[in-house]
Amino acid sequence: MEEGRKLRQVVVVVETVKNLLKAASPAASPDLTASSRSPFHRKTCIMPYQSCILTCLLVLLQTSSSQQEEQSQLLLVSFDGFRWDYVNRVPTPNFRALMDEGVQVEKVENTYITKTYPNHYTLVTGLHAETHGIIANEMYDPIHNQSFSMEGPSVYDAWWWEEAVPLWVTNQKAGRKSGAAMWPGSDVAIGGTYPTHYMSYNASVPFETRVKKLIDWFSGPKAINFGVLYWEEPDESGHNLGPESSQMDAVIADIDDKLGFLRDKLKTADLYDKVNLIVTSDHGMTQLSHDKIIELDTYVSRDLYTWIDKSPVVGILPKEGKLEEVYSSLKNVNPNMAVYKKEEIPDHYHYRHNARIMPLIIEVKEGWTVMQNRNGSLMLGNHGYNNSLRSMQPVFVARGPAFRRAYTKASMCSVDLYPLMCSILGLKPLPNNGSLSSVQDLLVETPTPKPVVPLVPRETSYAWAVGSIFGTALVIGFLFIFVQQVTQRQLPPLHLSNSEITQPLL
Ligand SMILES: [Zn+2]
Repeated sequence: MEEGRKLRQVVVVVETVKNLLKAASPAASPDLTASSRSPFHRKTCIMPYQSCILTCLLVLLQTSSSQQEEQSQLLLVSFDGFRWDYVNRVPTPNFRALMDEGVQVEKVENTYITKTYPNHYTLVTGLHAETHGIIANEMYDPIHNQSFSMEGPSVYDAWWWEEAVPLWVTNQKAGRKSGAAMWPGSDVAIGGTYPTHYMSYNASVPFETRVKKLIDWFSGPKAINFGVLYWEEPDESGHNLGPESSQMDAVIADIDDKLGFLRDKLKTADLYDKVNLIVTSDHGMTQLSHDKIIELDTYVSRDLYTWIDKSPVVGILPKEGKLEEVYSSLKNVNPNMAVYKKEEIPDHYHYRHNARIMPLIIEVKEGWTVMQNRNGSLMLGNHGYNNSLRSMQPVFVARGPAFRRAYTKASMCSVDLYPLMCSILGLKPLPNNGSLSSVQDLLVETPTPKPVVPLVPRETSYAWAVGSIFGTALVIGFLFIFVQQVTQRQLPPLHLSNSEITQPLL
């Protein structure tokens, strides 16, 4: 429907230009009326002139259209919990192919805390958790007096997400199209905007179905230029089996097969050498031990506080007036557990300046678990630990026309991915914690400065394009009239010309 409206607008502009030029042309002058002119004259003079104008308009429209077609395409894939070194553990020919054909980054420092929701939102905003507001998988917001759980309906309350703007929204505000397959937050109307195409979250939808959807969205005249794809493994198996389990080998091999499926589908759709493909993850995974458990009930009554989120970084909301009592009860009771008042949280965690971060946080060392007591099931693997730990860091490989070939980079921060993606897409990044210059060496060449794409509604951008076409056509028209007037002064006197053309056609 929108396309039809645009087409009608273009037709109106073309007709208006034609009428204006016709009205201003000598054909309409009182001393040489259309009725007195021969069909021959019209054929040899007016038609080429109309053709000229229409050709110019068509060239302009085609130029505009080809600019659309030349937009870079980018697909960001996350295999949840794919630790950086999993690619070395079993044969992973598809990951290897991407490394040979593109780039890999050996060490990616993600953001604190190394949980799924905070890090997935960091990847598409370039912001640390304290700034984008999704500070944990389970949160309490004291301003709204509301709780958030990644496993509950609160996920769909957009205001939780609206301290930041994800890249798919920025992409669409620049007049482009986005597609999202299950990426955390992508089925939420953030700022009132869904991705152009998206799938409502449903863990039972197979990977292959998600890929086929994305291939459809990346194809055809209305193709998206930016897509995001999420898959739940190997995170789930890593929790259940523990990353050191030999059973994880098959899980990792299966992820490589899935990447192979994606590569095949891109090739079949003739997209493989067109779409820039980034494969990464939100975090890694580490082995837990049933001997490394800290039970808070041993040290402090649970009547004194509310427990927010889960191990290994736990928010503690002390009851009114109980902060000092809870803090002193937990501080220094176990060398494997650090307790911070909010204002004591180290600066480099970038995890303090948000109301959703609790007055006290507990952080345990790698492999340790903090609980209120041992009741409940224990996992064999977990993540969420300090983001400086190698075990918490994700894989990163990428290939495509924007990327160098067979290039290995030593390190980057996950916040740098956002400005990198904006550069590939030709979008002006919103303020972020990342640095394009830190990761620009991953790209084929230093991108020439691209025009800043105004963050205006699509209709406004379109109106600008129509206005440009209209203005250009007017200039061409006036030039034409000017040339014709000059030429007419060199023609024989009007009465001679008139006598010739009024002769009957025989
Ligand atoms: Zn995760």
